[in-house]
Amino acid sequence: MSRVYNFSAGPAVLPEEVLREAADEMMDYKESGMSVMEMSHRSKVYDDIIKEAEQDLRDLMQIPDNYKVLFLQGGASQFFAEVPMNMMKNKKAGYIITGQWAKKAFAEAKIYGEAVELASSADKTFSYIPDCSDLPITDDMDYVYICENNTIYGTKFRELPNTKGKTLVSDVSSCFLSEPIDVSKYGVVYGGVQKNIGPAGVVIAIIREDLITDDVLPGTPTMLKWKTQADNDSLYNTPPCYNIYICGKVFKWIKKMGGLEGMKKHNEEKAKILYDFLDESKLFKGTVEKKDRSLMNVPFVTGNEDLDAKFVKEAAAAGFVNLKGHRTVGGMRASIYNAMPKEGVEKLVAFMKEFEQANA
Ligand SMILES: *Cc1c(COP(=O)(O)O)cnc(C)c1O
Repeated sequence: MSRVYNFSAGPAVLPEEVLREAADEMMDYKESGMSVMEMSHRSKVYDDIIKEAEQDLRDLMQIPDNYKVLFLQGGASQFFAEVPMNMMKNKKAGYIITGQWAKKAFAEAKIYGEAVELASSADKTFSYIPDCSDLPITDDMDYVYICENNTIYGTKFRELPNTKGKTLVSDVSSCFLSEPIDVSKYGVVYGGVQKNIGPAGVVIAIIREDLITDDVLPGTPTMLKWKTQADNDSLYNTPPCYNIYICGKVFKWIKKMGGLEGMKKHNEEKAKILYDFLDESKLFKGTVEKKDRSLMNVPFVTGNEDLDAKFVKEAAAAGFVNLKGHRTVGGMRASIYNAMPKEGVEKLVAFMKEFEQANA
């Protein structure tokens, strides 16, 4: 068996240990005589899996008791609509536009009410996080929305915006569990799990209880009403059982790795290796303002499209795959999520050094 170093932005690398364990339990999960894929979501054995997953996540993120944890479907993209459907009481909200995913959430909100652009970094291809210390937030806004880590452009909010007392909603898809956060500063923290936690098909939403009400926009489907999901502990209908089971295993793996403090240290070390090299390289350079750099997604270019393509091709042949940048940005992007070992980044940098020498 040979595994590559997978730098995909998502679906992305998972811890090998988790994959091995899942393989061991594939035919017979804990003497149930069946795979987790085959069992009822109403069974005691599955109930233990989902409850334990929730508790482990609560422990990891120190989620306060007045927040619900929901395991949902539809991807982060469906959640773009769920936010206004469940939260737009005044039919008005503010959005900070820091990339494609924020733009898509913003466009979705406009279907349901007045969505106002509070700030944007579109003027410089989203290569920085705009100043969010004094935004034009008005009293009638129901919430302020951010995409905390911009997967495509490689920027990250290092400091949360000043929301002037308004509820903050954050898409953390690509930085979920990468470092500790203070959940109490948010009304809603959510993300698709396929970047940093598990197999595509699950969205985890952590929502303050007072935001979960029957007062939703008319026409909101039962399934998309947070109250439906919260009242039924994410088991209103059949959830993506197997995927949630894998997420649970990843939570345990993170606990073993030292929790979110341990993850932060691991991620900072990895990112430093790559950014330090980009800063000294004569061929490769990072595309993002240093103060706003993401620990998870690292875009870089040579400045020459043909050379970029040559690099991506030769890297893949050497076992470093999925390094091509997003189609809207070009160049390269190395996504170095939690499960990417430090060794993978060290070897990538060694390969980049060789490539630089050969193409000087
Ligand atoms: C990948 C991604 C999404 C979209 O996720 P889907 O589950 O495919 O809908 C949204 N936001 C961010 C920040 C992402 O990285």
